[in-house]
Amino acid sequence: FNVPIAVNEPVKSYAPGTPERTAVLEAYKTMYNSKIEIPLYINGKYVSTGNTKPISPPHDHQHIVGSYHLAEKHHVEDAIATALEARKKWSKIPWEQRAGIFLKAAELVAGPYRAKINAATMMGQSKNIHQAEIDSACELVDFLRFNVQYMTDIYMEQPESTSDAWNRVEYRPLEGFTYAVTPFNFTAIAGNLPSCMALMGNVVVWKPSDSQVYSAKVIMDIFEEAGVPPGVINVVFGDPEMISNTVLSSPDFSGLHFTGSTFVFKELWKQIGNNIHNYKTYPRIVGETGGKDFIIAHNSAVPKQVSTALSRGAFEFQGQKCSAASRAYIPKSIWGDVKKYLLEDVKSFKIGSPEDMDNFITAVIHEGSFDKLAKYIDAAKNDNEAEIIAGGNYDKSKGYFVEPTVIVTQDPKYTTMCTELFGPVLTIYVYEDDAYAETLKLVDETSDYGLTGAILSTDRYAITEATDALQNSAGNFYINDKCTGAVVGQQPFGGARASGTNDKAGSAQNLMRWVSPRLIKETF
Ligand code: GLU
Repeated sequence: FNVPIAVNEPVKSYAPGTPERTAVLEAYKTMYNSKIEIPLYINGKYVSTGNTKPISPPHDHQHIVGSYHLAEKHHVEDAIATALEARKKWSKIPWEQRAGIFLKAAELVAGPYRAKINAATMMGQSKNIHQAEIDSACELVDFLRFNVQYMTDIYMEQPESTSDAWNRVEYRPLEGFTYAVTPFNFTAIAGNLPSCMALMGNVVVWKPSDSQVYSAKVIMDIFEEAGVPPGVINVVFGDPEMISNTVLSSPDFSGLHFTGSTFVFKELWKQIGNNIHNYKTYPRIVGETGGKDFIIAHNSAVPKQVSTALSRGAFEFQGQKCSAASRAYIPKSIWGDVKKYLLEDVKSFKIGSPEDMDNFITAVIHEGSFDKLAKYIDAAKNDNEAEIIAGGNYDKSKGYFVEPTVIVTQDPKYTTMCTELFGPVLTIYVYEDDAYAETLKLVDETSDYGLTGAILSTDRYAITEATDALQNSAGNFYINDKCTGAVVGQQPFGGARASGTNDKAGSAQNLMRWVSPRLIKETF
């Protein structure tokens, strides 16, 4: 199989005076001042429903930048019907034609659409420019490019044959249609989930998060321009329950590709279980959900390295990554230094809107998230077991701003050590140096999740001990690094336990879930 070698898209700097900075600011300004309407996208056509909701940037919630259309049940049914119709042709075209479309999409993101998709992510999801760039430009491009390579890895996997019997496997798409449910926090994930299923020959109904409609629209424009035929990927916004009920009660439903909350994923799984007798095939279920991700320092760790892992791991994109560090375990002997550097870092983070590129922290996604964070921060202010050593303030007058907040607790089972908050709140437990083994046990036992984690140490025995003790606590385990920032093609991403099915995003293993192989044996 001769396909272009996948390479990671280089991250641009956006330093003052660079053309990329000018372009993205220009795109942002245009979007901010325009009133866009975002319809549904069914059978290659934009469908207005008449029932709309306004879109506002999380950092400026009184400013309306447009509206998006909400689907009714019959729109979802149309999306399903049109997908099934499109499948007749899409599942039969040669794989090179499908690959060609998504490789073209990658080049459109990397080039002509880069400023626009970054600006949409900055405005709609409140990412600072660097976080937007590594997500909606680089990671999205990487998914599109590497998936083509992984697809060919799969197709090449063929059984042995003999001179009188030729065995071959066709990696056929699933029968029926698939369903992609995507989160607000990564534009790249929103693009990857529907496109990787389509790449493998499937047809898709895609429900983006209501908090990610702006960049979802840009993704769909790119897919359309790249040549995704009508009906192959259909986008419906609106009431998640109605949409999921409609999709999951169709007998032709054959796969769910989900990234979002643990609660919703389990609900969908239950619903699939309840409908199991109606389906023509057992649906594939792939989900990446929550996390309560940890950073552990051993007393041999370099304090500055620990503080950087904490401040970047916990506070990039306001802690709204499934992989974000939200609990940390630091030994007493280095805590003084770690604390000093961490407080310096946190104080240096500027807070404000993303169009001011000096701002590192911007708003959290919506009022619900803001209120939840405020509630936990207020509780920490009043609880004896907790002390807030940085941040602790919040303000939603203009945007949903929450200061990066560091809580120190003497109780390793304190609420914020165990509960996923999905925001800029880091809780630290300072342990006695000689309690390293017990601390590793605590890390494993205090959370139901198993997504990411990190150990920082210069002692190989301590690293080995942590690696052994935390076998199931993190699907992505980092040694001497922060626990965020997986790069497609380098660190396939996903976790087990309550964090998901661990079908790594950005891997051949994930793409295998979207095919139904047929073995053909031909005898001579
Ligand atoms: N892949 C991202 C990372 O490594 C996290 C993805 C997510 O939040 O779902 O930081």
